[in-house]
Amino acid sequence: MMHNHPPPRSQQMQAPLPPPGGAGTGKIYPPNQPMIFNPSNPNAPPIHPCGICHKEVHDNDQAILCESGCNFWFHRICTGLTEPAYQMLRQEVYAEWVCDKCLGTKNIPLVKMKP
Ligand SMILES: [Zn+2]
Ligand SMILES: [Zn+2]
Repeated sequence: MMHNHPPPRSQQMQAPLPPPGGAGTGKIYPPNQPMIFNPSNPNAPPIHPCGICHKEVHDNDQAILCESGCNFWFHRICTGLTEPAYQMLRQEVYAEWVCDKCLGTKNIPLVKMKP
């Protein structure tokens, strides 16, 4: 299903706000959207903002998905996961990771083994 019909948009050229605090690089995205589409380039892949710092998770970043919780991606650094733990989770296809927030609110184990 590839319809080339981007919704009509008339005024899309708003300048992005500078990041609060002025520290760091990269845009802060709204905290309630796990996936953001680029309205000025509908063909671009969606942006996945980190569920903690709300900055974009790049393809080459170490990042992990809260798959059975909020569906946000998280930078490995932001979650506090150690690199070995992260590598282990990446390699273990049956392991699911959930973020702290979902862990507290949804009562799912930190690492759940799929049946
Ligand atoms: Zn982050
Ligand atoms: Zn989550």
